[in-house]
Amino acid sequence: MRRRLVRELKAKGISDERVLKAIGAIPRHFFMDKAFEEKAYEDKAFPIGYKQTISQPYTVAYMTQLLEVKKRQKVMEIGTGSGYQAIVLALLGARVFTIERQKGLFDATNQLIDRFDVGNIRTYFRDGYQGLAEFAPFERIIVTAGAPKIPDRLKEQLAIGGFMIIPVGERGAQIMTKVTRLSEDEWMVSEYDNFRFVPFLKGTVGNSL
Ligand code: SAH
Repeated sequence: MRRRLVRELKAKGISDERVLKAIGAIPRHFFMDKAFEEKAYEDKAFPIGYKQTISQPYTVAYMTQLLEVKKRQKVMEIGTGSGYQAIVLALLGARVFTIERQKGLFDATNQLIDRFDVGNIRTYFRDGYQGLAEFAPFERIIVTAGAPKIPDRLKEQLAIGGFMIIPVGERGAQIMTKVTRLSEDEWMVSEYDNFRFVPFLKGTVGNSL
């Protein structure tokens, strides 16, 4: 089933062999609710609880391809969700720092990530709008929720020469956007295809206290 999914992604235009290999290696059904398990290798998004979704494999592949991750790079992901995207990045050799704002999801996904034992993923329960200033700069940032605009805080946490992939736009329609940091105070923005993401929300929910 995974091989078929990889063929489907290739037919839809994904050409980066490393990305295809990672997707071909990951048991996506582990990241999904039992109720949807048999659909895990369909190229679709599915609910993971907390009104969130595991992204469509095409979307994960598309963003990961744009991210051009190199081994050992520091990559910050906003929106851990199911953990699937984080595992893809880890398999590409990135040092992954991933942030989630929903405590319940954060706890459940942490357990799952531990089971994969990839070693190079650190998880944080935080508001992604703040990023992780104490670990900046990042060579790559990937935002997996739809942002109304490009957050300044995240731009500031990019390494010079590094870039961020972020879907930008109002609810229901976002343009995949690449923001490259050219210097201390210059950024370049380029736009790609249209997607639909769950919203990038402010603050955290469900503190354990
Ligand atoms: N990368 C995920 C996709 C998750 S959907 C995967 O592979 O499954 C987007 C996720 O972003 C949701 O889990 C949502 O709770 C989270 N999110 C939204 N706003 C956020 C914020 N401000 N900080 C951190 N996470 C956020």
